[in-house]
Amino acid sequence: MKIYDISMSVFYDMPVYKKKAAKRPVLNVESDFISGAVYETKLEMNMHTGTHIDAPLHMLEDGYTIDKLDLKKVITTCKVFDFKHVEGKISQEHLEEKNISAGDFIILKTKNSYEDILEGEFIYLDKQGAEYLRNKKIIGVGIDALGIERAQPNHETHTLLLGEGIVILEGLRLKEVEEAEYLLVAAPINVVGAEAAPVRAVLIKQQAVPL
Ligand SMILES: [Zn+2]
Repeated sequence: MKIYDISMSVFYDMPVYKKKAAKRPVLNVESDFISGAVYETKLEMNMHTGTHIDAPLHMLEDGYTIDKLDLKKVITTCKVFDFKHVEGKISQEHLEEKNISAGDFIILKTKNSYEDILEGEFIYLDKQGAEYLRNKKIIGVGIDALGIERAQPNHETHTLLLGEGIVILEGLRLKEVEEAEYLLVAAPINVVGAEAAPVRAVLIKQQAVPL
């Protein structure tokens, strides 16, 4: 069994969405072995920093929250598709070349995983691409960008997907992962009432073992 860690490391100088200072995680040591008998740290972090899942409340006023997420949607087989040669954005024309079926969780590997463009002009999924995936009735989509879209009016990619209950997994690191089917384990921490939550996401590949 091979485990691929596809999560971002969390630290103050990590890449954050559009380099916004408010998105930086702040760690405060509240007790150490000089001030006390135990070591304890407080973490202050926006839910959309690093690898995370968006729940529908992120974009829809009456959308459900992350604690209501069915874990079967994020602990599931998934298909990683290689789009590393695509420039700018992923659209319907790119997705049509791949084998996508109802009930799939798909992960989009782009050149974001290779280049240091996470904070600016990252590759994203456009509206036509989101509509195509919605019509295919997928259950979830992941991407190696800090947002699944950027600079789109009314956050149309997010709204289209979350409106259909399609899980959005953002902030993946996919450099070491090739196009194939894997088991995805991407359970978010269970924060009651939140619109998103951090995830330690992994892909698992089962090796065929002779008996
Ligand atoms: Zn998000």
